[in-house]
Amino acid sequence: MTDKVRTEVLAVYADVDAAIAQARPRCDASGRCCRFTEYGHTLFISAFEAEILLAHAPHYEQPVSRDGCPFQVEGLCTMRDARPLGCRIYFCDPGYEARMTEITEEALTKLKRIADAHDTGWHYAPLHHFLNGPRKAGPNDRAGDSMTPPVTRVPLPVVNHSGG
Ligand code: SF4
Repeated sequence: MTDKVRTEVLAVYADVDAAIAQARPRCDASGRCCRFTEYGHTLFISAFEAEILLAHAPHYEQPVSRDGCPFQVEGLCTMRDARPLGCRIYFCDPGYEARMTEITEEALTKLKRIADAHDTGWHYAPLHHFLNGPRKAGPNDRAGDSMTPPVTRVPLPVVNHSGG
């Protein structure tokens, strides 16, 4: 990732953080947003987000399962400054759901524009996919990857399958 791309992606993070601050969703600090299988989530991230996360990540055990995030320690995120968009946007406050969807779609649209403008390609997959193979999961590596949705698709970074 070039410095210019990184700067643009971090600007998207800043926009999201500002939107969340304005929306003021409730957080119960349950930590369940990071325990994916237990609470029926899948956290999707882009290669941009993975690169920023992994640039600051401490050593973690591999393979990482799809069940949770190795950076959650005693219920808290240890990668808060570098955490991906889904981690910033997702709250289980039911009164915030509609706004959460809007913020997500706005942010993903901006990231895709960055990918288009810099011709990086677009790679979007569950978190553990990047944590287990960061080199293979580069933005230009799309061939043969069944977890890469079409470029036009805008799924939620965190998908709640259980409604809980
Ligand atoms: S990066 Fe932090 S907020 Fe995101 S899933 Fe991991 S522990 Fe949770």
